[in-house]
Amino acid sequence: MAHYDALIIGAGFAGAVTARQLAEAGRRVLVLERRDHIGGNAYDRLDQAGVLIHQYGPHIFHTNDRQVYDYLSRFTPWLDYPHKVVANLPDGKGGRLEYPVPFNLNSLEIAFGPEEGGRLGEKLIAAYGPEKKVTILELRQNPDPEIAALAGYVYEHVFVHYTMKQWGTTPEQIDPNTTARVPVFLSRDCRYFQDAYQGMPLHGYTKLFEAMLDHPGIQVRLNTDARDLLDLSGPNIRFEGEAFDGPVVYTGAVDELFGCLFGRLPYRTLDFRFETHPVDLWQSHGTVNYTVDEPYTRITEFKHMTGQTLPGATTIVKEYSRAYTGAPEETPYYAIINPENNALYERYAALAARHPQLHLLGRLAEYKYYNMDAIVARALALADGLLK
Ligand code: FAD
Ligand code: UDP
Repeated sequence: MAHYDALIIGAGFAGAVTARQLAEAGRRVLVLERRDHIGGNAYDRLDQAGVLIHQYGPHIFHTNDRQVYDYLSRFTPWLDYPHKVVANLPDGKGGRLEYPVPFNLNSLEIAFGPEEGGRLGEKLIAAYGPEKKVTILELRQNPDPEIAALAGYVYEHVFVHYTMKQWGTTPEQIDPNTTARVPVFLSRDCRYFQDAYQGMPLHGYTKLFEAMLDHPGIQVRLNTDARDLLDLSGPNIRFEGEAFDGPVVYTGAVDELFGCLFGRLPYRTLDFRFETHPVDLWQSHGTVNYTVDEPYTRITEFKHMTGQTLPGATTIVKEYSRAYTGAPEETPYYAIINPENNALYERYAALAARHPQLHLLGRLAEYKYYNMDAIVARALALADGLLK
């Protein structure tokens, strides 16, 4: 076996950023990835029609962290893309209605008419202040009957059915930080994110990862499940039958690393149904959320986000959420964060902690709802720590 100073398991953002940082500091790094491609869930590729699609669901980069933005900018130029989302729902008169999500002052006027919507908007601003973000759970607690009724409207038309589809349960029963990602916004800013930096890697995510992993100190082995090569049974880690004493950074699901010894950690998975249509554009916005009806949560049309010009063909994806069962063809996408699951996670983390050289990093390994920028920041910090 060639000599490596560090092992990285997973070639998503967590693994790729860590590998790059260690390699630039002179370490020889082996990256093991069980899929047949790099990029983790941010992987993109051209489909049969030539449309650039995100195979594991739509990924829009956004951050307020200048360090993260500057770091990734070493590996890609950016396409300026302010992501905008609308809710699409029945209008109660046999037609359909679309308004911005996060629900904002424009949405209010579309839902209640300019006059009534305008008045309600002013009332909300008087209560919370202009440009403020108020979570739906907070808004529902407002004692003013008119504001409470409005909160009830938003809950019913934007949150409850979508959340039932996505999580199989109501907004009160999921981690409050989840619905807080999409607060009611007392503004006319119709962007989904207000972060200082937002956009898409100009040539796609996979190209960004290729650039990041293109370093003489990094070797990537695809189609390789690290669990087949790593032995964590003794006090010292063994890799391919030999003792390995360098850092091992694991970015997969932590329960799997230990053979689901204490039972599976619960996740939601998604079924993605892609459709290609012979038109330039198929829907009004990059993402349309179906907040009341339809079995899918949202439809994304990639050409809006990637800026790709390809006349006469466009690809959309519908997302269907369900419980993850652990079947080999499924991917665990969303940790289900609650005290019971967190406690189970901690039992696995305690097993991992028995190996001081083993580091759990990433959305799966840490069982958290991290966006890409948060993972990049954590990977930079971990690599710094390993190099000290
Ligand atoms: P991953 O990308 O999951 O990478 C982990 C890698 O490890 C995978 O490639 C996996 O195959 C590999 N692996 C696992 N186990 C093993 C093993 N035993 N051996 C070898 N390899 C292994 N974030 C945003 O900022 N903006 C968005 O718009 C956005 N949209 C999203 C949409 C969806 C539908 C989902 C599910 C997530 C979205 N995210 C978004 C979050 C984003 O996907 C994550 O922040 C990011 O992918 C986390 O990177 P990671 O490296 O931790 O994990
Ligand atoms: N949400 C909702 N209706 C919407 C958008 C979001 O109820 O139109 C809730 C839902 O519970 C969702 C959560 O807010 O899971 C977070 O939404 P976000 O768009 O951030 O989810 P992601 O893009 O990570 O799937």
